[in-house]
Amino acid sequence: MTVSGSGGELSAGLPLIACYGGTFDPVHNGHLQAAEEVFERAHCREVRLIPCHVPPHRGTPMAPAAARRAMLELALAGSVRLRVDARELARVGPSYTIDTLVSLREEVGDEVALGWVIGADAVAELGTWRNWRRLPELAHLLLLDRPGYVLPQRGPVARLLAPRLTTDVSDLHARPAGRVWCVGQTPLAVSATAVREALAAGRSVAHLLPLPVWAYIKQQRLYGYDQGPGHEAESE
Ligand code: ATP
Repeated sequence: MTVSGSGGELSAGLPLIACYGGTFDPVHNGHLQAAEEVFERAHCREVRLIPCHVPPHRGTPMAPAAARRAMLELALAGSVRLRVDARELARVGPSYTIDTLVSLREEVGDEVALGWVIGADAVAELGTWRNWRRLPELAHLLLLDRPGYVLPQRGPVARLLAPRLTTDVSDLHARPAGRVWCVGQTPLAVSATAVREALAAGRSVAHLLPLPVWAYIKQQRLYGYDQGPGHEAESE
């Protein structure tokens, strides 16, 4: 079978859908650059950005789910490579990745490879995720570099990852799940925390995220923007 996908043709193998979960509170250029590089480097059919409804391992997101989704839709508008998958927003209770992967696998069947994209900071916490040892049964794990973080070298998570590691991207197309691959993307030192902090201080974040998202944040007065003590009146 020929793998179709504008990330580049591989001569044989399963099509690959990469799934990139996060709170996206808000989506920023670090997410978008990483998603584009996953698409290109892994020869994906598409990359789905999946906003988390109720994060199991961190506090409630600052922006409501509908606003986080709206910002993602604005950021991805017109893209044929990246799209929003809102399935977690339709579920009640904590948004466990294992449940999301079960539902994705049911949707795509066994003739499509799935990849779950995780930043190096999140990999460090992987051992706390529900049924984390089962994740490779359902998807490949696609690991993103992140400034300041290294992958675990010892312990249970390292023991799950190490035997599955591959540097050969065609391995991701040879089976539906089960390998671990480092994306090797260009890490951008931007985080949603830094974006929220800048907004709360009244600073512009125009350089950190797409302009339609920045316009939405200002319009909706999200993250305390224009209420911060150092608010800079910005020309529109
Ligand atoms: P916060 O600062 O609120 O923790 P975040 O910027 O880490 O947010 P999330 O939505 O929590 O963003 O992250 C979703 C996923 O994207 C995680 O796997 C995270 O590691 C990854 N990620 C976030 N920012 C980057 C970045 N700049 N480069 C690579 N991966 C990133």
